[in-house]
Amino acid sequence: MSMVQSAPNDLAALWMPFTANRAFKQAPRLLARAEGMTYWTPEGREVLDGTAGLWCVNAGHGRRPITEAIQQAAASMDFAPSFQMGHPLMFQAASRLAQVTPAGLDRIFFTNSGSESADTALKIALAYHRARGQGQHTRLIGRERGYHGVNFGGLSVGGIGANKRQFGPLLGNVDHLPHTHLPANLFTQGQPEHGADKADALEDLVQLHGPESIAAVIVEPVAGSTGVLVLPKGYLERLRALCTKHGILLIFDEVITGFGRMGANFAADRYGVLPDMITMAKGLTNAAVPMGAVAATSEIYATVTESAAAGIELFHGYTYSGHPLACAAAIATMDIHRDEALSARALAIEPEWQEAVHSLRDRTNVIDIRNAGLIAGIELQPRDGKPTERAGRIMQRCFEAGLLIRTTGDIIALSPPLIIESGHIDRIVTTLGEAITAEAA
Ligand code: PLP
Repeated sequence: MSMVQSAPNDLAALWMPFTANRAFKQAPRLLARAEGMTYWTPEGREVLDGTAGLWCVNAGHGRRPITEAIQQAAASMDFAPSFQMGHPLMFQAASRLAQVTPAGLDRIFFTNSGSESADTALKIALAYHRARGQGQHTRLIGRERGYHGVNFGGLSVGGIGANKRQFGPLLGNVDHLPHTHLPANLFTQGQPEHGADKADALEDLVQLHGPESIAAVIVEPVAGSTGVLVLPKGYLERLRALCTKHGILLIFDEVITGFGRMGANFAADRYGVLPDMITMAKGLTNAAVPMGAVAATSEIYATVTESAAAGIELFHGYTYSGHPLACAAAIATMDIHRDEALSARALAIEPEWQEAVHSLRDRTNVIDIRNAGLIAGIELQPRDGKPTERAGRIMQRCFEAGLLIRTTGDIIALSPPLIIESGHIDRIVTTLGEAITAEAA
């Protein structure tokens, strides 16, 4: 059995990310061990993982080949410089990744997180236009309710107000498309029918800012962090067509939707729409070592690298880009995805998942349910004057009853590991349903 960590006796020093620190430290929720679909608390209580950690442990916890690959990499070389030097694992990891990304998106830049991937892709877009002699393409377009991490670029194109308010004006040369969360789409199973025409707002932005001014549009194929908003049928196709028409690069942020989550390697495959770049992280290493990546077309790579005079072509990178431990973890993770056909498995169980989560629609205070791949969002009526409280209390009830869920505002988000089986789905829906009902009493 792996080492079980004991509960800490002092919580003061740690400033926790995206957490109500004061409330948490009064009543901490700790996880100390994980295997398969299950976490254990430091006291040894089982908690079923309904969220794959943070949408990232797609192949399930404690996968031995990943652990062993990391151990071997650490034992043979802890680190090698990533600038002006290389090591075999970073090239192997990139080659393997280029085989699973959609055809044509086969040039890989490594980062350490989803946030870094977003900023990297935005910077590559700017460098690409400049390399083509079209440096006037500088405006970056995101969407309302979009989430692209917490660094200044991704935050600026992001569309979640609470994440931005504390941090001043951010990047100036940015605009946003409207979100597509429409009343007509409530309780849709899979992709909604209404709202593809919201993509046409890009045409308005082109008219507003000038056709040569826009560098890139970044979009999550399913908006996760805002509370699971599935894009309407035809929306991505329209966005693709408009981007092509106006020479704008289209970036899919697949930090959540990549690596089997959508019943395909990437949402781009599932929806049959090819962007110019894909950002990823999370499932890339099964979250065992932090790692992100940007996949770009060979045309983007060639344009940036060949236009430069001899020397460094892109003045960007991280000390830990292509870290050996992360590369080892990524290769082992991709082996597991291939050998266990996890995307196909997710696709096969999706109808059962969809039916199960939508069975909660008549519970008190449930005002919408949405799903895509092995993702679901259950939106609750907020308490009068106390937004987030209802969902927060339901999360606590679930945790006490042995189920990990995630909440954003008053929306419950579910995204289990792709190794999920019918019995787990039953337990998730039963435990959550009981918590929703108990909280309404
Ligand atoms: N982009 C998307 C779509 C995400 O969902 C996330 C994280 O949830 C990020 C970017 C940021 O990733 P990270 O937290 O690894 O920086």
